[in-house]
Amino acid sequence: MQTKYSSLMPIAQRPDVVFESGNGHWLTDNRSNTYLDFIQGWAVNTLGHCPPAIVDTLSQQAGKLINNSPAFYNRNMLDCANLLTQNSVFDQVFFTNSGAEANEGAIKLARKWGQNHKNGAWKIITFANGFHGRTLTTMVASGKAAFDPLFEPKTPGFVRTPFNDMQAVSKAIDQDTVAIMLEPIQGEAGVIPAEHSFIRDLRQLADSHGLLLIFDEVQTGVGRTGELFAYSHYGVEPDIMTLGKGLGGGVPIAAQLAKTHCSVFAYGDQGGTYNGNPLMTAVATTVLREVLKPGFLQQVRTSSQYLQQQLTTLSAQYELGKVRGQGLLLALDTAHQDATQIADACLQNGLLLNAPRANTLRFVPALNITTREIDLMTERLREVLSEL
Ligand SMILES: *Cc1c(COP(=O)(O)O)cnc(C)c1O
Repeated sequence: MQTKYSSLMPIAQRPDVVFESGNGHWLTDNRSNTYLDFIQGWAVNTLGHCPPAIVDTLSQQAGKLINNSPAFYNRNMLDCANLLTQNSVFDQVFFTNSGAEANEGAIKLARKWGQNHKNGAWKIITFANGFHGRTLTTMVASGKAAFDPLFEPKTPGFVRTPFNDMQAVSKAIDQDTVAIMLEPIQGEAGVIPAEHSFIRDLRQLADSHGLLLIFDEVQTGVGRTGELFAYSHYGVEPDIMTLGKGLGGGVPIAAQLAKTHCSVFAYGDQGGTYNGNPLMTAVATTVLREVLKPGFLQQVRTSSQYLQQQLTTLSAQYELGKVRGQGLLLALDTAHQDATQIADACLQNGLLLNAPRANTLRFVPALNITTREIDLMTERLREVLSEL
């Protein structure tokens, strides 16, 4: 079997494993090893690997229409956009291919709105340890210290403040400020939830200064937190929201959504070859329909509670730290233990877990996970912890 890695640009240190197939909560590699998957493409595979609903949609749509150019409507882009607006507080949608592109679009939309309605205001307040993507501009909007020295010169106009610090945000506002942009739960930072009061105060602050509030729900959206969108947990409505990851359940599609008052793109401002592609929007429609089925989100919340219980028990047994997060976007603080070492050992033990930080394990299984797999995950993680 050929496994030549050197023809790929080395963008990350990857383990010596080559995946060949997936089924539900399981992956199989080229040596026929199987792995229980609690990464699922980083909170992407909403319904698990190769779920029948997506396989059917893809094969049927592939035989019907793959692409007709974004210069024309297609049925699926309309169905998907209608489903999103009917089930959210937003009025209009623009589909993109990745979360970064959706966020880049949200930034463009905010600047355009600033030009039209706020004397050309253009600065956006963002947050330390936030993550919004890897285009030149979304890297600047992100608050990852590792990005700071890279790819100069940077896109200007981003003012970074500490997360959950209302005073810092208030102080950062000036006459050029147009928007505040954040993840309601910082995912890549290690699953750090915004405090409820912080989100509510941000909304008030935005209203009193005439700023747009932008939620990056690329990771938290589409049922991941036990609500269709995380903003529902806080009782506030953002002006703009971006989606990605779970929206496509594994295929590349993302979206930016806006309320009418700030949906200000004019012809020519935004576009892209694959945007609203019928094959991808067919899949996103299927994913949304599955997540919207009666009882689905309740099941996410029930599974979340069970997973939290299991993790809390493990934590007490091995003197680890707290469990945090919401729905099936959870993290366990590993305290004195090296989370990367634990994740590496889990891989050897047939379990995929991700360590976004040196002392954080992240748990983002498919949303249809059952207690059986949660038990098996707990067992495999326990084996690893007892050996370390
Ligand atoms: C993953 C992620 C992105 C970037 O999405 P891509 O599809 O990788 O471009 C942006 N924001 C958040 C919150 C994410 O988790």
